[in-house]
Amino acid sequence: MATDKTAYLEDLSRCVRCGTCKANCPTFEGDPLEPMGTRGRLILLQGLLRGEIKPSRLLNERIFSCILCGACSGTCPLGVDIPEAIYRGRALLSGGDKKRRFLRPIAKWSSRRPDLAFRALRLGERLVLPFLAKRGIIPFSPELPEVPLRKTEQVFKAHKKKGRVAVFVGCSINYVFPHMGESLINVLQKIGYEVVLPQGETCCGAPLRSLGLEKEAEELARKNYRVFSRLKVDAILSLCPTCTLSLKTEYPKMIGKGLDRVMDISVFLNDKLGAVDKIYRTSYYHDPCHLSYGLGVTQEPREIIRKAGLDLVGADEQGCCGFGGLYCLSFKDISSNLLQKRTEKITGTAADTVVTSCPGCVLQLSRTITDRPVLHLIELIEEAYCYRGEKPEKKEKDPQKEPTLF
Ligand code: SF4
Ligand code: SF4
Repeated sequence: MATDKTAYLEDLSRCVRCGTCKANCPTFEGDPLEPMGTRGRLILLQGLLRGEIKPSRLLNERIFSCILCGACSGTCPLGVDIPEAIYRGRALLSGGDKKRRFLRPIAKWSSRRPDLAFRALRLGERLVLPFLAKRGIIPFSPELPEVPLRKTEQVFKAHKKKGRVAVFVGCSINYVFPHMGESLINVLQKIGYEVVLPQGETCCGAPLRSLGLEKEAEELARKNYRVFSRLKVDAILSLCPTCTLSLKTEYPKMIGKGLDRVMDISVFLNDKLGAVDKIYRTSYYHDPCHLSYGLGVTQEPREIIRKAGLDLVGADEQGCCGFGGLYCLSFKDISSNLLQKRTEKITGTAADTVVTSCPGCVLQLSRTITDRPVLHLIELIEEAYCYRGEKPEKKEKDPQKEPTLF
């Protein structure tokens, strides 16, 4: 693939520097310097490819400061695939990138041994993580569950089976928000779908790719492709738009084949859910970048929120929350500024609930929005369709018990 990659990056020479692509670039909006925006980064990458610019600390900063939100995806009139060009550029620069030199081996190690990494984090949860957060080394200290969602292959039966779906759980659901995965299983069983969580799923590879670790990310992509392509299922669902985007549209660029049947839960569930009695709440919907810009899914979550009995208020504008996975560790200031902007926008509305479709956005927005609940869409769906708006308090999870929800 190395030659292909170089060829791909050379596609950059099609860029005529019109600047259309930087119109919605959040890093440019925060710091209106040309190299902090889409066009500037592409010009730098062209210079690098032609040998006019040498790799340097500053060049790395410019290329790695892109949050990979995808707001520039599909905006180029000449068809330059901009996020892809940035990924390729990072792969070229990663060898000499000192700022993230510790992050790379940690990311590589933990993507290969995620259960062990989770146990290590759990050990450090009380002391190490709060200490690192206090020192500003990490932006926040996440609360971790006792046990992850996935174990070996798990199959959850449905009473009146209409079909069978697989779930690509993803790292953030598995290790940070397993209750969201349980909610998804609960909803799917309730509407008649058998659910399979296959053995062998691994990280989707997006965090490694964002660090320029192409080869390692491709290895993970091949593993996931092997596991999920053999399944006889109607659809592969994910609660994380970054995972969905990777499996569906990034894998074909990385390994030459993707998983067509993978989709966001809102796309799968929208026509299967009817309108419920009003539960009288208002909601703000935050569009996750990879779902809206990357996958073009904006209407389905809104339709589901309305059907679930909520009034949507002030949810027409898109904007990055600043999470970006490992980005919030590398560029804490930019990440915090973006978060601040979204927070002001959201808290300025009368919404009493904030709903989004991405576990990363939930994690990030919950840092600053503390006066009202920040929910993943699946939590709202479960509440409305399984508990008629009165979801019981979550009990502490029993590590011995499978997440059977009926
Ligand atoms: S992916 Fe987002 S941050 Fe990166 S260049 Fe495009 S718009 Fe800007
Ligand atoms: S829109 Fe396309 S041609 Fe215009 S600056 Fe961006 S990449 Fe170049």
